[in-house]
Amino acid sequence: MINVTRQPYDPGLSGWNSVLPKHQGFGSLSGHTSADIVIIGAGFAGLSAARRIKQIDANARVIVLEARKIAEGPAGRNSGFMIDLPHNLASKNYAGDTSSDQKQIDVNRAAITFAQDSTDEYSMPEEALRQSGKINAAATDKGHRHNVEYARHLNNIGESSTLLNETEMREICGTSYYLGGLYTPGTALLQPALYIRCFANGVAKSGVSVFENSAVRALEKTGNGWVVSTQKGKVSCDSVVLATNGHVESFGFYKRRLMHIYLYASMTAPLDDEQVRQLGGEQRWAFTPADPMGTTVRKINELGGTRIVVRNRFTWSPERHVTDAKLVSIAKRHDRSFNARFPQLSGCLMEHRWGGLLCLSQNSTPAFGELDKGLYSACCQNGLGTAVGTASGMAIGEMQMGVSSKLTEFFKLGGSPNRLPPEPIASIGANAVMYWRELKAGREL
Ligand SMILES: Cc1cc2nc3c(=O)[nH]c(=O)nc-3n(C[C@H](O)[C@H](O)[C@H](O)COP(=O)(O)OP(=O)(O)OC[C@H]3O[C@@H](n4cnc5c(N)ncnc54)[C@H](O)[C@@H]3O)c2cc1C
Repeated sequence: MINVTRQPYDPGLSGWNSVLPKHQGFGSLSGHTSADIVIIGAGFAGLSAARRIKQIDANARVIVLEARKIAEGPAGRNSGFMIDLPHNLASKNYAGDTSSDQKQIDVNRAAITFAQDSTDEYSMPEEALRQSGKINAAATDKGHRHNVEYARHLNNIGESSTLLNETEMREICGTSYYLGGLYTPGTALLQPALYIRCFANGVAKSGVSVFENSAVRALEKTGNGWVVSTQKGKVSCDSVVLATNGHVESFGFYKRRLMHIYLYASMTAPLDDEQVRQLGGEQRWAFTPADPMGTTVRKINELGGTRIVVRNRFTWSPERHVTDAKLVSIAKRHDRSFNARFPQLSGCLMEHRWGGLLCLSQNSTPAFGELDKGLYSACCQNGLGTAVGTASGMAIGEMQMGVSSKLTEFFKLGGSPNRLPPEPIASIGANAVMYWRELKAGREL
């Protein structure tokens, strides 16, 4: 019997979800039912696995169980960059080594194609996914040097990118905060909550049973399968997929091998016409920071009006929880980063603030594969959760159906997350490294 030790904690309401009309949603699991496959977690990995399974066998009986409401978890509260290129958060400029980067690009692009196909098949609104590229924005000379090094690395692996100067950046975003940028065309930009809601509706229409507010509390191995239990229901099934990202550790797997990190974002109230005019620049743009520890900024112009979304700070959270005091101090940091970039918008209020978990491993390896007979994991997406989560879901779906592909090979051969140092060494070390790197990020933060 596996008892789940921790349930998801997602502080604050994600702005992406809050600006959308109320979602009709799904019921929660009750009573005792059966399925061929139960997928736990309705994020990128879980929903992509469900779609891939149904593509291979439309008759497969698939149930998805989600602890929160759809899109309330990390999948609906991220910054929406579905990045095709290497994005190593532990590096100084996102680059990794050449051969692994090329494989990663293939995987990320397979995921983006799958996501684009899903938006077409499920008739999602245009703003759910736009293939518009992104800019690595540099606010310092050091950030600019990172961009130049990254551009050189991309060129070496045959990838195009365009360096932008200070004037070009100002014309795009309306602020003179940035010294330069590096545009890469392959990133898809999500309205993450909209994309996840539409995706869940789409797989449900294809015959997948989706249940929300259905946190899994226990798994029990039976003679030829598993029984999955929530507070009010049970499912007997042949196999189970854990698509819970870092919460795979709450099921007792990969203990002391996963790094649980909270990220934080704030979204302004809609800008009024005068503020839009004062800001200037293009209607929409999306900046990742030239230093991975810096601030991600998006200007959106969608259903909820014209808004700015900022994301910065990382906190190490092995207990997968964060205090209210931490949220307050991070909100102040967001305000400082926003005001420094947009002095012409002083007085513009932040309407939404939230945090959410991502999961890394020390050797950037996913927690993927068969854990026990009929029990699978598609977790630990290493900072590229929208793309890699999608790809690992596709691969685990194929494995369920006995299909072998480049994707399944990539994930099967990926190895296993390394063991972390014992506590308190791991926490002290991680906090010290993050503090030092954020300090060094300077104006990029
Ligand atoms: C503020 C922020 C900004 C980010 N920006 C980006 C970005 O721009 N680009 C990017 O690629 N990534 C980004 N990320 C990371 C990204 O959101 C995650 O890596 C991604 O959501 C992982 O997808 P997943 O499907 O593996 O897991 P998740 O999206 O975490 O989905 C797992 C689901 O499992 C559910 N679950 C857990 N335990 C149980 C249980 N016991 N029973 C039932 N359900 C359970 C959870 O509620 C959750 O919904 C960001 C994250 C945050 C918080």
